[in-house]
Amino acid sequence: MTDFDDNLRVPLLDLEPIHQPIREHLRQAVVSVLESNRFIGGPEVERFEREAAAYCGASFAVGVSSGTDALIVSLMALGIGNGDEVIVPSFTFFSTAGSVRRIGAQPVFCDIEPGTFNLDVRSVERLITKRTKAVIPVHLFGQCADMNAIAGISEKYGLKVVEDAAQAIGAEFNGRKAGTFGDTGCFSFFPSKNLGSIGDAGMVITNDPELADRIRLLREHGASRRYYHSMVGGNFRLDAIQAAALTVKLSYLEQWHLQRVANAGAYSAAFADLQERDLLSIPVQAPQRKHVFNQYVIRVRDRDRLQEYLGNKGIGTAVYYPIPLHLQECFQNLGCAEGSLPESEKAAHEVLALPVFPGLTDAQRSKVIAAVHDFLQVR
Ligand SMILES: *Cc1c(COP(=O)(O)O)cnc(C)c1O
Repeated sequence: MTDFDDNLRVPLLDLEPIHQPIREHLRQAVVSVLESNRFIGGPEVERFEREAAAYCGASFAVGVSSGTDALIVSLMALGIGNGDEVIVPSFTFFSTAGSVRRIGAQPVFCDIEPGTFNLDVRSVERLITKRTKAVIPVHLFGQCADMNAIAGISEKYGLKVVEDAAQAIGAEFNGRKAGTFGDTGCFSFFPSKNLGSIGDAGMVITNDPELADRIRLLREHGASRRYYHSMVGGNFRLDAIQAAALTVKLSYLEQWHLQRVANAGAYSAAFADLQERDLLSIPVQAPQRKHVFNQYVIRVRDRDRLQEYLGNKGIGTAVYYPIPLHLQECFQNLGCAEGSLPESEKAAHEVLALPVFPGLTDAQRSKVIAAVHDFLQVR
């Protein structure tokens, strides 16, 4: 039945075809930082911040040490802390809620829309109390949440908006890029993100000059002049080697997005018959969005067995995320029982991410398509 090459391996993510064509360019950028002996701050960081702000269409970009620190420093700069509540989706990477807890505030978990996996905006309103200070929409898997509806709620209730755009650099809503709708937009350059560094790195963007200044201060222990501290911040700096590598990679980002979108389109076309027979759901693309497919995530009832089947055929997949955050051990004191956020819990049982990285070959893609059909026995 199978006519694909059993020996062809298809990892979930292969950085080799992404880095190989630009290796010399990357090497030069890294070596030039090494030879400058300037590793913290300096022209490489400033250049990356300028180019990344321009790419995103934001007035200011502040490079930071990770996506998690981008969230933490944003919340700190907005004055959120002890006793405050921040609404977050339950179905996301841990960091979205962990950052809220780290600054002393309380994450309040919200359910998701089943189609896009993003914050269900109608449920947000029901969770608002006198203590609610902010909401963190996550643009999960590379597709924007409904930022019109979120802007409406934030105006009505006076809430701050911190966008978790860690998976969505370059994604658009109504022609505007992710991260430019909220008070701040937070990005991660973890190597598996669409713009990956060669270590840990992140960024905050904002259009508010005072907020940008405060984030810069907090990034350096709240010191505007060395050893004079007006606030308590942290060491949230982006280092020069990461900035140099990111500047190189930023110039290729749009072409990588095109390849991700093409891979996603090929999967969705090939899986349409399976969706018709209700055997699998392809990712929903909501209107007015440009999806950048950091992950291509299907839903299937027999998810664990499909994952095992694909694994045995040399196809890498992943479950983002197996346990919704309201059911994590560390958040049990927040009082969310099993069954309280049904869409998040259902998604956790059904989702499976397939390889969608730029550089995935036609043969690799065809093998994934054939193997999924084989498992569902409809080829
Ligand atoms: C990756 C990610 C983060 C955290 O980024 P790090 O750079 O790993 O700290 C936060 N939120 C989401 C949704 C992410 O995917």
